[in-house]
Amino acid sequence: MLRLSYKFRLYPNKTHLQKLESTLELCRELYNSALLHRISAWQKARYHVTYTEQANSLVEIKQVRPEFEEVHSQVLQDVLRRLDKNFRAFFRRLKMGEKPGFPRFKGRNWYKSFCYPQSGWQFLSDRKIQISKIGIIRVKRHRNFPEGARLKTLTLKKEIDRWYAIVSFEIPDRKDKVPIRNAVGIDVGIDAFATLSDGAKIENPRYLGRTESKLAEAQRVFSRKRKGTKAREKAMVRVAKIHRKIVNQRRDFLHKVSRYLVDTYDLIAFEDLKIKNMMQNGNLAKSIGDCSWGRFLQYIAYKAESAGKHAIGVAPRGTSQNCSNCGARVPKLLSDRVHICNKCHIVLDRDINASRNILRLGTSLLGLSPGEAPCVSWE
Ligand SMILES: [Zn+2]
Repeated sequence: MLRLSYKFRLYPNKTHLQKLESTLELCRELYNSALLHRISAWQKARYHVTYTEQANSLVEIKQVRPEFEEVHSQVLQDVLRRLDKNFRAFFRRLKMGEKPGFPRFKGRNWYKSFCYPQSGWQFLSDRKIQISKIGIIRVKRHRNFPEGARLKTLTLKKEIDRWYAIVSFEIPDRKDKVPIRNAVGIDVGIDAFATLSDGAKIENPRYLGRTESKLAEAQRVFSRKRKGTKAREKAMVRVAKIHRKIVNQRRDFLHKVSRYLVDTYDLIAFEDLKIKNMMQNGNLAKSIGDCSWGRFLQYIAYKAESAGKHAIGVAPRGTSQNCSNCGARVPKLLSDRVHICNKCHIVLDRDINASRNILRLGTSLLGLSPGEAPCVSWE
């Protein structure tokens, strides 16, 4: 069972906005008072309040404060569950001898979402979502759920001036895999975003670079403003908005590329970056993070899983240093961009050589010989 989530932009009208804001505020209030309740019960009587006790008291709270009737009861329960989770994490870490921070009261800027854990919402179409106690809100569902997906929870999240719906869902494991008619190895890199064993290169999109330089400029402006001024606050919001744009653009790019690969190939082999991270120095590890390769490979893995295709991570040992044609070792530095084999005299782009090695390792892990996966014999 694979658990995933998609994030969609919401377009609430004024009435919706009021309800979203007031729900968020009531949730925050509930969180803080439930936290206070736990703290004082402990201080006064060394009594440990449980989730169930707090959930049972919701009925009374609604009698005294009828505005809480305006919030879906599961949303309120989820607030208390969140608090309970934070406490459990705190005690668990305490037990392990760490020095965890005690669960904190949440200020306005530290409480940004609430969640419908099981029910109370449904999509009416790609454009409309019905949410209990809030209304029917316009949504941009720009991506379809994978086949067989079971929708689980809905989280409504505020990011600066926008609201998003984050829908988590499960896809059951598929036992029937498609037969492998073609296969590809992928080398993720610094020059190109990715290089494929059939020689194709996937470049980093230009718009990302443009937004990134805008971000750098906005950060410069922000750092020049005096602390505590309105202008500084405004500059900070601008930085946050551009940052959000970059995150969204990157995610869209990763979704598009991974979708293309899974649609096109039956077997996709890539380097297991967890191992790679341990092997390389800090600087490269940083750029790995920057390029969001880990997330990219995750996208490939789950899209392949739900399509019944094969995604295989291989240990990166030797993928860049060995000759993909004859297996001879051809030592090179990071700066050597071309693979020149002294033994078989093949000359290849460094990353293409690596991606071919990755493909070979991937197919051998599956127990296939090159002949069984047609694209593996590329010569
Ligand atoms: Zn060679």
